[in-house]
Amino acid sequence: MSKTELGQKYAYDLDIAVIGGGAAGLAAAVSAGREMPQGAKLAVFDAQPRCGKKLLATGNGRCNLTNRHAGPSDYHADDTRAVSQVFSGVNVDDTLAFFESLGLVWREEDEGRIYPACGQASAVLDLLRLELLRLQIAEVCGCRVESIKLDTDGRYLLRSPLGTIRTKYVIEACGGMAAPNLGGVNWGYELLRSLGHTATKLHPSLAPIPVSSPHLGSLKGIRAHAKASICNERGAIASDEGEVQFGDKALSGIVIFQLSSAAAPVIGRGGELCVELDMLPELDFDGIVTLLTKRRAILPHLTLENYLTGVFNKRVGMCLLKQAGMTPLSRSVSELSDGDIRRIASVVKCWRFPVSGAAAWNNAQVTSGGVRLSEFDGLTMQSRLHKGLFAAGELLNADGRCGGFNLQWAWSTGILAGRSAAEMLRSDKNK
Ligand SMILES: Cc1cc2nc3c(=O)[nH]c(=O)nc-3n(C[C@H](O)[C@H](O)[C@H](O)COP(=O)(O)OP(=O)(O)OC[C@H]3O[C@@H](n4cnc5c(N)ncnc54)[C@H](O)[C@@H]3O)c2cc1C
Repeated sequence: MSKTELGQKYAYDLDIAVIGGGAAGLAAAVSAGREMPQGAKLAVFDAQPRCGKKLLATGNGRCNLTNRHAGPSDYHADDTRAVSQVFSGVNVDDTLAFFESLGLVWREEDEGRIYPACGQASAVLDLLRLELLRLQIAEVCGCRVESIKLDTDGRYLLRSPLGTIRTKYVIEACGGMAAPNLGGVNWGYELLRSLGHTATKLHPSLAPIPVSSPHLGSLKGIRAHAKASICNERGAIASDEGEVQFGDKALSGIVIFQLSSAAAPVIGRGGELCVELDMLPELDFDGIVTLLTKRRAILPHLTLENYLTGVFNKRVGMCLLKQAGMTPLSRSVSELSDGDIRRIASVVKCWRFPVSGAAAWNNAQVTSGGVRLSEFDGLTMQSRLHKGLFAAGELLNADGRCGGFNLQWAWSTGILAGRSAAEMLRSDKNK
């Protein structure tokens, strides 16, 4: 006899429950809703008062939806085969077709970054939600799923403040720990752990890197072009070139975010780690010495304060000279020795900022680490431990670079999970 027959009431009795109404959960709900049999019941549950809070903040409010070049090799994950399977199921073109079918017009910008043509992240969220409305899929907000367990009949029972939700299939898309102010939580990991899944260590990624330097105070807010490398005692772990932003106690900017992604597990673990900035990557050491020697010849009337004005931002130039030990800067340029010039060139080529601690979750865009991807089938996103349990998005142990790669992961896995759950439902109905 079923519990319903025994008179026990469920707050919701569903075919598919999506936990988490972020990018992955909404994509999963739309794709499931479009393909599930008529009359099937699906609802999305989100702990926040509204779905898609983080989505609204993406791309500085413009939503860097995906990247033209996104592919399996762009992700750090424990199971690279599963990442390839995910992309064989839903790639960038499939994702763009999905959004076009919702009514989105998009535009490609630098380095393959794709944005809504209207420049509004809210348009992406609106179109997903309008499709849910058309498909008559309920969004249940302010409803945190607190626990999950398997009933004896193979259905899932989800505990929530509204009461117990009973469902045949579950798609978990609870996101990760990044940006707690936008809804980042560890609840998704706990739910899956309670069902026997395991997660790797979690680290903030795509975040400013905290560094110590006596110069940061005077550089705050300045942006400069540089080649940045994150290095340990053995050498560079990762490098990238572009705009670096100097912060109060951290280095920031897309280039630094990329380094934080490449080195997320080692940042904050202790040990010698530093960020090295090559402030003139287009010149080698001898080229910089030649440049500086020429400046000494043509600018002997200046004080050191302005020796590098015209090469770098003035404050950056002064800090480089101080770092090279050229104080006081009231000295005349003509007093520089060849040795001084070589010391300045060394700092320009390799300006070292010791890493002072772990990146902060508050400023991170994504979680490095997560529930082991190897425990899910990359073709369907179904758990290898439990039939009818699916996972998608940042919750899983796969994270990518800045530039649309992380949303692409959320869309691909979300669409796949939704499609697979709907297919299973169809085949159940045909039995
Ligand atoms: C400031 C910022 C800017 C970003 N910009 C970009 C960008 O431009 N391009 C890009 O590719 N990536 C970007 N990212 C990363 C991207 O936003 C995430 O990778 C993506 O949102 C992950 O989607 P998700 O659905 O897995 O998780 P989320 O979007 O975090 O959604 C998870 C949802 O689940 C809900 N939830 C969690 N646990 C429960 C529970 N137990 N019960 C009910 N609900 C629950 C949460 O409230 C949340 O709404 C950015 C991130 C940040 C923080």
